[in-house]
Amino acid sequence: MIKLFEENSYIREFETQIINVNIEKNLIELEKTAFYGKSGGQPGDIGTLTTSMETVEVIETLKKESTLLHQVKSIKNLKIGNLIKGRINWDKRYKFMKMHTALHLLCAVIPMEVTGGQIGDVKSRLDFNADANSLNKEDIQEKLNQILKNNHEITYEWIESKELEKKPELVRTMSVKPPKTNGKIRLVKIGNVDLQPCGGTHVKNTSEIGMIIIGKIENKGRMNRRVNISLND
Ligand SMILES: [Zn+2]
Repeated sequence: MIKLFEENSYIREFETQIINVNIEKNLIELEKTAFYGKSGGQPGDIGTLTTSMETVEVIETLKKESTLLHQVKSIKNLKIGNLIKGRINWDKRYKFMKMHTALHLLCAVIPMEVTGGQIGDVKSRLDFNADANSLNKEDIQEKLNQILKNNHEITYEWIESKELEKKPELVRTMSVKPPKTNGKIRLVKIGNVDLQPCGGTHVKNTSEIGMIIIGKIENKGRMNRRVNISLND
Protein backbone atom coordinates (compact mmCIF):
# COMPACT_ATOMS: atom_id res chain seq x y z
CA MET A 1 0.00 0.00 0.00
CA ILE A 2 1.62 3.24 -1.18
CA LYS A 3 0.55 6.23 0.92
CA LEU A 4 0.74 9.18 -1.45
CA PHE A 5 0.12 11.69 1.35
CA GLU A 6 3.38 10.74 3.07
CA GLU A 7 5.42 12.25 0.25
CA ASN A 8 2.95 14.94 -0.79
CA SER A 9 -0.05 15.90 1.33
CA TYR A 10 -1.37 18.21 -1.43
CA ILE A 11 -2.45 15.37 -3.78
CA ARG A 12 -6.25 15.67 -4.13
CA GLU A 13 -6.76 13.31 -7.10
CA PHE A 14 -5.00 10.13 -8.14
CA GLU A 15 -5.45 7.07 -10.35
CA THR A 16 -4.91 3.49 -9.23
CA GLN A 17 -6.58 0.09 -9.14
CA ILE A 18 -8.68 -1.85 -6.65
CA ILE A 19 -6.74 -4.72 -5.05
CA ASN A 20 -9.32 -5.95 -2.54
CA VAL A 21 -13.08 -5.66 -1.91
CA ASN A 22 -14.93 -6.56 1.28
CA ILE A 23 -18.60 -6.74 0.24
CA GLU A 24 -20.02 -7.29 3.75
CA LYS A 25 -18.27 -4.32 5.30
CA ASN A 26 -18.24 -2.04 2.22
CA LEU A 27 -14.45 -1.74 2.33
CA ILE A 28 -12.16 -1.10 -0.65
CA GLU A 29 -8.41 -1.54 -0.69
CA LEU A 30 -6.36 0.29 -3.35
CA GLU A 31 -2.84 -0.20 -4.71
CA LYS A 32 -2.03 3.37 -3.65
CA THR A 33 -4.04 6.14 -2.02
CA ALA A 34 -4.07 9.82 -1.10
CA PHE A 35 -6.83 9.21 1.51
CA TYR A 36 -5.48 9.60 5.05
CA GLY A 37 -6.64 6.82 7.39
CA LYS A 38 -8.10 7.79 10.76
CA SER A 39 -5.25 7.70 13.31
CA GLY A 40 -3.28 9.79 15.76
CA GLY A 41 -6.30 11.99 16.51
CA GLN A 42 -6.74 12.97 12.84
CA PRO A 43 -10.01 11.90 11.15
CA GLY A 44 -9.97 9.72 8.03
CA ASP A 45 -10.54 11.42 4.68
CA ILE A 46 -13.83 11.31 2.81
CA GLY A 47 -14.31 11.72 -0.97
CA THR A 48 -15.15 9.64 -4.04
CA LEU A 49 -13.89 6.71 -6.14
CA THR A 50 -14.85 6.80 -9.82
CA THR A 51 -14.62 4.00 -12.40
CA SER A 52 -15.52 4.30 -16.09
CA MET A 53 -19.08 3.28 -15.06
CA GLU A 54 -19.92 4.93 -11.75
CA THR A 55 -18.91 7.02 -8.76
CA VAL A 56 -19.09 5.78 -5.17
CA GLU A 57 -18.82 7.91 -2.07
CA VAL A 58 -16.05 7.24 0.48
CA ILE A 59 -17.58 7.95 3.91
CA GLU A 60 -14.54 7.00 6.04
CA THR A 61 -10.92 5.87 5.67
CA LEU A 62 -9.63 3.43 8.26
CA LYS A 63 -6.11 2.41 9.15
CA LYS A 64 -5.54 -1.30 9.68
CA GLU A 65 -1.95 -2.14 10.52
CA SER A 66 0.08 -0.85 7.57
CA THR A 67 -2.82 -0.70 5.13
CA LEU A 68 -5.70 1.73 4.59
CA LEU A 69 -9.32 0.76 3.96
CA HIS A 70 -11.79 3.00 2.15
CA GLN A 71 -15.30 2.58 3.53
CA VAL A 72 -17.86 3.31 0.82
CA LYS A 73 -21.58 4.10 1.15
CA SER A 74 -22.38 1.33 -1.34
CA ILE A 75 -20.00 -1.01 -3.12
CA LYS A 76 -22.16 -0.95 -6.30
CA ASN A 77 -20.24 -2.78 -9.07
CA LEU A 78 -16.71 -2.22 -7.78
CA LYS A 79 -14.45 -5.22 -8.39
CA ILE A 80 -10.82 -6.20 -7.91
CA GLY A 81 -8.76 -4.93 -10.85
CA ASN A 82 -11.06 -1.96 -11.63
CA LEU A 83 -9.11 1.20 -12.49
CA ILE A 84 -10.36 4.11 -10.43
CA LYS A 85 -9.87 7.81 -9.96
CA GLY A 86 -9.85 8.81 -6.31
CA ARG A 87 -10.76 12.30 -5.14
CA ILE A 88 -10.50 13.45 -1.56
CA ASN A 89 -12.73 16.13 -0.02
CA TRP A 90 -10.04 18.82 -0.14
CA ASP A 91 -11.97 21.47 1.82
CA LYS A 92 -12.07 19.27 4.89
CA ARG A 93 -8.58 17.82 4.47
CA TYR A 94 -6.91 21.21 4.04
CA LYS A 95 -8.50 22.36 7.32
CA PHE A 96 -7.18 19.19 9.02
CA MET A 97 -3.70 19.98 7.62
CA LYS A 98 -3.80 23.51 9.04
CA MET A 99 -5.12 22.31 12.39
CA HIS A 100 -2.65 19.44 12.58
CA THR A 101 0.34 21.70 11.86
CA ALA A 102 -0.93 24.25 14.41
CA LEU A 103 -1.10 21.49 17.06
CA HIS A 104 2.60 20.71 16.49
CA LEU A 105 3.31 24.37 17.21
CA LEU A 106 1.08 24.33 20.27
CA CYS A 107 3.40 21.55 21.54
CA ALA A 108 6.35 23.85 20.93
CA VAL A 109 4.70 26.70 22.87
CA ILE A 110 3.65 24.44 25.77
CA PRO A 111 6.70 22.30 26.61
CA MET A 112 4.80 19.68 28.61
CA GLU A 113 3.86 16.08 27.99
CA VAL A 114 0.92 15.61 25.61
CA THR A 115 -1.58 13.06 26.92
CA GLY A 116 -4.19 13.18 24.17
CA GLY A 117 -5.62 15.12 21.27
CA GLN A 118 -8.25 15.37 18.57
CA ILE A 119 -8.28 17.16 15.23
CA GLY A 120 -11.47 18.59 13.75
CA ASP A 121 -12.23 20.94 10.88
CA VAL A 122 -13.82 23.52 13.21
CA LYS A 123 -12.12 22.89 16.54
CA SER A 124 -9.10 20.86 17.67
CA ARG A 125 -7.53 20.14 21.02
CA LEU A 126 -4.52 18.83 22.87
CA ASP A 127 -4.39 17.61 26.47
CA PHE A 128 -1.30 18.44 28.50
CA ASN A 129 0.09 17.01 31.69
CA ALA A 130 -0.14 20.44 33.37
CA ASP A 131 -1.60 21.94 36.54
CA ALA A 132 -3.96 24.88 36.99
CA ASN A 133 -1.44 27.70 37.12
CA SER A 134 0.96 26.71 34.37
CA LEU A 135 -1.08 27.74 31.31
CA ASN A 136 -2.12 31.26 30.36
CA LYS A 137 -4.52 31.55 27.41
CA GLU A 138 -3.48 35.02 26.21
CA ASP A 139 0.18 34.18 26.51
CA ILE A 140 -0.20 30.93 24.50
CA GLN A 141 -2.23 32.68 21.78
CA GLU A 142 0.35 35.44 21.36
CA LYS A 143 3.32 33.06 21.19
CA LEU A 144 1.60 30.69 18.78
CA ASN A 145 0.55 33.42 16.36
CA GLN A 146 3.99 34.97 16.46
CA ILE A 147 5.46 31.63 15.26
CA LEU A 148 2.81 31.33 12.50
CA LYS A 149 3.71 34.77 11.16
CA ASN A 150 7.36 33.82 10.76
CA ASN A 151 6.69 31.72 7.61
CA HIS A 152 8.42 28.56 8.80
CA GLU A 153 8.73 25.77 6.23
CA ILE A 154 7.63 22.24 7.07
CA THR A 155 10.11 19.57 5.91
CA TYR A 156 10.52 15.82 6.40
CA GLU A 157 13.29 13.35 7.04
CA TRP A 158 13.16 9.59 7.55
CA ILE A 159 15.14 7.84 10.27
CA GLU A 160 15.55 4.20 11.32
CA SER A 161 13.20 3.39 14.21
CA LYS A 162 16.27 2.26 16.23
CA GLU A 163 17.71 5.78 15.95
CA LEU A 164 14.51 7.23 17.36
CA GLU A 165 14.73 4.93 20.37
CA LYS A 166 17.96 6.75 21.25
CA LYS A 167 16.16 10.11 21.16
CA PRO A 168 13.00 9.58 23.26
CA GLU A 169 12.77 13.33 23.90
CA LEU A 170 11.51 13.78 20.32
CA VAL A 171 8.31 11.84 21.02
CA ARG A 172 5.79 14.29 22.45
CA THR A 173 2.67 12.15 22.46
CA MET A 174 3.07 9.17 24.74
CA SER A 175 -0.37 7.83 23.86
CA VAL A 176 0.28 7.58 20.11
CA LYS A 177 3.15 5.55 18.67
CA PRO A 178 4.70 7.10 15.55
CA PRO A 179 3.80 4.97 12.49
CA LYS A 180 6.53 2.94 10.78
CA THR A 181 6.98 2.55 7.01
CA ASN A 182 9.50 -0.14 6.02
CA GLY A 183 11.13 0.07 9.47
CA LYS A 184 11.56 3.82 9.16
CA ILE A 185 9.88 6.68 10.95
CA ARG A 186 9.17 10.10 9.51
CA LEU A 187 10.34 13.18 11.38
CA VAL A 188 8.45 16.41 10.79
CA LYS A 189 10.44 19.59 11.12
CA ILE A 190 8.83 23.02 11.38
CA GLY A 191 11.61 25.56 10.78
CA ASN A 192 13.75 25.68 13.91
CA VAL A 193 10.65 25.56 16.14
CA ASP A 194 9.54 21.93 16.32
CA LEU A 195 10.84 18.46 15.44
CA GLN A 196 8.84 15.30 16.17
CA PRO A 197 7.95 11.96 14.57
CA CYS A 198 4.54 12.04 12.88
CA GLY A 199 2.69 10.25 10.07
CA GLY A 200 -0.03 12.88 9.63
CA THR A 201 -0.66 15.54 6.99
CA HIS A 202 0.78 19.07 7.31
CA VAL A 203 0.84 22.31 5.32
CA LYS A 204 4.08 23.39 3.57
CA ASN A 205 4.49 26.72 5.35
CA THR A 206 3.08 28.12 8.62
CA SER A 207 1.84 31.19 6.70
CA GLU A 208 -0.94 29.01 5.20
CA ILE A 209 -2.55 28.54 8.61
CA GLY A 210 -3.54 32.17 9.17
CA MET A 211 -4.38 33.10 12.75
CA ILE A 212 -5.20 30.64 15.52
CA ILE A 213 -7.64 31.42 18.30
CA ILE A 214 -7.12 29.70 21.65
CA GLY A 215 -10.48 28.72 23.09
CA LYS A 216 -11.27 27.43 26.54
CA ILE A 217 -8.56 25.79 28.64
CA GLU A 218 -10.54 23.05 30.34
CA ASN A 219 -9.77 21.33 33.60
CA LYS A 220 -9.79 17.58 32.96
CA GLY A 221 -8.21 16.43 36.21
CA ARG A 222 -5.50 17.48 38.65
CA MET A 223 -2.69 17.22 36.09
CA ASN A 224 -4.65 17.44 32.85
CA ARG A 225 -5.47 20.64 30.98
CA ARG A 226 -7.27 20.60 27.64
CA VAL A 227 -6.32 23.44 25.25
CA ASN A 228 -8.86 24.10 22.46
CA ILE A 229 -7.95 25.90 19.24
CA SER A 230 -9.83 27.12 16.17
CA LEU A 231 -8.85 28.63 12.81
CA ASN A 232 -9.65 32.28 12.25
CA ASP A 233 -11.04 31.96 8.70
ZN1 LIG B 1 1.99 15.83 12.51
